[in-house]
Amino acid sequence: MIMRICIQPVGDVNDEILKFLKKKFGEVFGMCEILPKIDIPIYAYNFSRGQFNSTLILKSLPTVEDIVLGVTEVDIYADNLNFVFGEAELFGKRALISLARLRPEFYGLPPNKDVLKIRALKEAIHEIGHVLGLIHCENKRCVMSFSNSIIDVDLKDWRYCKKCLKKLQDRGIYISI
Ligand SMILES: [Zn+2]
Ligand SMILES: [Zn+2]
Repeated sequence: MIMRICIQPVGDVNDEILKFLKKKFGEVFGMCEILPKIDIPIYAYNFSRGQFNSTLILKSLPTVEDIVLGVTEVDIYADNLNFVFGEAELFGKRALISLARLRPEFYGLPPNKDVLKIRALKEAIHEIGHVLGLIHCENKRCVMSFSNSIIDVDLKDWRYCKKCLKKLQDRGIYISI
């Protein structure tokens, strides 16, 4: 089974990260392309918080044949949460991740592209998992475990655990992971 993932840069996004995700998605899901960037919707900005509403950005993404993953550099939040690493439509078509809090510099550490790449991959595979119908997994090593902090992100693998993979396979979704 081949799925096409479309990567949608929202605003200016680091090209090296986009290309890395494209390569990995090609291996895992079959096909991937990077769409021309779109602007961050200004109405999604919350002045009192100094952050963007993740749901509004998610809803601004185009719908494509299979799955679209929005990638943005701005810090995002969702209702009742101080921030989110990403958001997705469960059993839908659209997902979104933010690189803002995946960057080591956010935590006062030196920039590190390799660290950023693997974190972005984990959060992207996690949100795509929601699009494919997966809910959060209690296995802290599984990519579908909920990440409350960057420590949780670093703790988990970028792959789905056996149980989550089985759930996908039961619905006829076979991926190379
Ligand atoms: Zn989640
Ligand atoms: Zn799992």
